[in-house]
Amino acid sequence: MLSRNPRLADMLERIFIVRSVAEAIRRSIAWCLVIAFIAVILTDPLFAVFFPDLAKTYGPSVRAFAFGIAILVSAPIVALFFRMSLRMVSFNEQLKDMARHDSLTGLLNRAAFEEIIAGRARDSGDDASPEDALIIIDIDHFKSINDTYGHAAGDHVLRMVSVCIAGNVFERDYVARLGGEEFAVLLIGAGASGAVRAAERIRSALEECTSHYEGRVIRVTASLGGALYPRGAAYPSVYRSADFALYRAKDAGRNTCEFNGLPTVPRNPKPGAETLTEDTNRGIA
Ligand code: GH3
Ligand code: MG
Ligand code: MG
Repeated sequence: MLSRNPRLADMLERIFIVRSVAEAIRRSIAWCLVIAFIAVILTDPLFAVFFPDLAKTYGPSVRAFAFGIAILVSAPIVALFFRMSLRMVSFNEQLKDMARHDSLTGLLNRAAFEEIIAGRARDSGDDASPEDALIIIDIDHFKSINDTYGHAAGDHVLRMVSVCIAGNVFERDYVARLGGEEFAVLLIGAGASGAVRAAERIRSALEECTSHYEGRVIRVTASLGGALYPRGAAYPSVYRSADFALYRAKDAGRNTCEFNGLPTVPRNPKPGAETLTEDTNRGIA
């Protein structure tokens, strides 16, 4: 019934659901006072019907007594109720968080990533700022890592790779694990030069990254495919474009970045040497 009546659901949520301890305390006090005042209002007519003599003799004291009893009885019940509501809210947040993140790496999952992209497409943004870019990253020959070192080592490498990718983009960018050994980055307002440099920075950082697992050192490389994300473009077509570039990167021998519609990305002469700042990202420094 509530799902069919969102306004009713919204109203009930506003009355009964709290999101912080302070709000729970405030609401508990307010509800107890409301209940106590209702008890006081009902005291006279109830006593007039059931205990007419007592009402005449002890009128005001009976009302004060009813007020006190109502507070005593309602306070723990109301407090318990709001405590449960607080727990429910935090549990809900946890569930939402789990549904949006990949459990192995903690990165956004594909669904959450696509939801963010859809949200950005809706808010179309400011036409003067540089375009976003989508980069798909696929670890090279990852199957052989699993085959050589075992699946647990492969999982460890995936976690290290996720840390490395997230550490080489700006905080405003979005990093996701699309599935298996495939990751994606949405570079916000990077423009063509920023996107190309970011892709090369990620590639060279991954090449430099070493994973230590049970005394063994595991190194990986990755191939990256990118595409600019013109404002108003449809995600599937941008994804196809980046994926096509990724195939080209694999065909070109792996451990390389390719962009659809942009010149081939030059290799960073000294991997990991570039410091990540707005200027270096746009090729100014
Ligand atoms: P390429 O260079 O062409 O990308 O080769 P590849 O071996 O990386 O690609 P392929 O698609 O043949 O293999 C992907 C491997 O990724 C196979 C699969 O077992 C492994 N994989 C997928 N998900 C996980 C995971 O969650 N953990 C681990 N350890 N391995 C995974
Ligand atoms: Mg793959
Ligand atoms: Mg692969």
